[in-house]
Amino acid sequence: GGSMAKSSYEYVRQFEADDTCLHNCWIVVRLDGRSFHRFVEQHNFTKPNDDRALQLMNKCAQTVMLELKDITIAYGQSDEYSFVFNKKTHWFKRRASKFMSHVVSQFAASYVFYWKDYFSDQPLLYPPGFDGRVILYPSNQNLMDYLKWRQADCHINNLYNTVFWALVHQGGLTKAQAQERLRGTLSSDKNEILFSEFNINYNNEPLMYRKGTILVWQKVNEIATKQINSEKEVKQTPSKVTSLHCDIIGQQFWKEHPEILD
Ligand code: ATP
Ligand code: ATP
Ligand code: MG
Ligand code: MG
Ligand code: MG
Ligand code: MG
Repeated sequence: GGSMAKSSYEYVRQFEADDTCLHNCWIVVRLDGRSFHRFVEQHNFTKPNDDRALQLMNKCAQTVMLELKDITIAYGQSDEYSFVFNKKTHWFKRRASKFMSHVVSQFAASYVFYWKDYFSDQPLLYPPGFDGRVILYPSNQNLMDYLKWRQADCHINNLYNTVFWALVHQGGLTKAQAQERLRGTLSSDKNEILFSEFNINYNNEPLMYRKGTILVWQKVNEIATKQINSEKEVKQTPSKVTSLHCDIIGQQFWKEHPEILD
């Protein structure tokens, strides 16, 4: 109130920049492990895919979705995760720095907190860090293309890494020789090396490796939801997060989940 006199220092607040995210845009926060190339080696991750690490990333992302407000969908692969906030969100007055810092700190704290649940035999040797960025997408098409881009990246990297480590682990090549062998090869060449030299059909590799992880809210009974919300405009968010490892590049996923883009 008026009796709470402002100090003469109060003016410094004027130096804070306005970082309100443009209205009606999807707000995406992507985080990525800092120098995980080194972190992965020091913590003896299995290559090319350490299941414990992927499950830990998924657990942290679920924690972010449950603790923070208005996240519609999340997508993760390797040491990165993307969180999509509903375009209508008013959380923290849509201030970009609040979104980014809350997502990244909640995720990083969860990574340390839950580490021992996934790595019971591997001590955490030093505190990991994550970078974050905020990207605004003004259309549903842009948002879908963003998520498709991350899944395409997952596919390209995982195919490369799968052949690379097959050449090293089973083929007896050094890392330098494997890199040289793969220089300039196409996807079809990599599939062929896997199949003819290592009897691996890439399409039979685990879905989580090939497609990454999609986190969405569990669908609730629609009739019950309508009755609860008939008076209100606000959608009730279901309380459970489901993880999927399906294709999101084709149209089928988006047809089956129209609520994501609502
Ligand atoms: P930066 O700080 O720029 O992100 P970085 O070393 O983290 O540097 P990235 O491009 O993010 O570089 O690469 C992450 C590295 O971590 C890759 O080498 C990737 O293979 C490895 N990695 C991430 N998750 C796993 C996992 N679950 N199992 C095995 N390796 C992983
Ligand atoms: P927000 O998420 O908006 O920051 P908040 O509950 O964290 O909400 P703050 O204005 O940051 O609100 O206030 C921090 C609260 O924590 C205050 O009530 C403060 O007294 C208390 N607090 C912080 N540090 C200590 C401490 N070392 N000992 C006792 N109380 C503390
Ligand atoms: Mg990077
Ligand atoms: Mg990284
Ligand atoms: Mg990365
Ligand atoms: Mg506080």
